[in-house]
Amino acid sequence: ASREMKKDDTRMTIAGVNVGPTTFTVVAGPCSCESEALVMRTAEFLVSKGVKLLRAGAFKPRTSPYAFQGMGLEGLKLLAKVREKTGVGIVTELMDTEYASAVEEAADVIQIGARNMQNFSLLKRVGKCRKPVLLKRGMSATLDEWLMAAEYILAGGNYDVILCERGVRTFADHSRNTLDLSVVPPAKALSHLPVFVDPSHGTGKWAYVPAMSLAALASGADGLLVEAHPEPDKALSDGPQTIDFPTLEKLLAQLRQVAPIL
Ligand code: PEP
Ligand code: MN
Repeated sequence: ASREMKKDDTRMTIAGVNVGPTTFTVVAGPCSCESEALVMRTAEFLVSKGVKLLRAGAFKPRTSPYAFQGMGLEGLKLLAKVREKTGVGIVTELMDTEYASAVEEAADVIQIGARNMQNFSLLKRVGKCRKPVLLKRGMSATLDEWLMAAEYILAGGNYDVILCERGVRTFADHSRNTLDLSVVPPAKALSHLPVFVDPSHGTGKWAYVPAMSLAALASGADGLLVEAHPEPDKALSDGPQTIDFPTLEKLLAQLRQVAPIL
């Protein structure tokens, strides 16, 4: 993962979208794949606004075992259908090696969640996958630990890894996590891998997502992973940190004033 091994920035093309130094990539969508209608409606909205990558979890790592756990394999089927119909690329989480082949098939990018950043058997398994991996930073991981986790994937032979900062645990209680944008410049300096930022989990409050998205762009990040839903109040997970479509549209316009997106 280090620039000592490879000087030039890693670039990749995901569902026709270039990821790397010359672009700022936006990935948006609901926290969870809740229904066919939701993911289809979201994908159509994204495509109409020039966003080509949809996020939605079919397997959800929830704090409570009684909370909505995601639609599982049924959700993956819906995501595959949405990709087929709209052409969007799919970013979705893999939580368990058991489902690696199923997620690899449905996804254009395999997401590894913050809680699994050091699940070494899972990292080794996605090292054998033929799809890019988006590796969230663990909520108490140092930069070195995060890069070593990426190293597990690269060492397995999968070189398409995207790092994603999503906030860390601090004493602060004004936000769900503390979005550590100060990790972006050192991550970019030490590593050739693209670095994305997730301002949704980073703040936990939708009203702060646009400002932190613009700040992520200013920090030198290569892209955003942002939660968006047509009716955040009705979302089955992470509604309070999810922006609605008009807010996303406005944010895209603001980002485009500063940088070419896609
Ligand atoms: C998510 O992206 O919905 C998610 C569960 O993220 P994290 O692993 O960063 O908490
Ligand atoms: Mn979420």
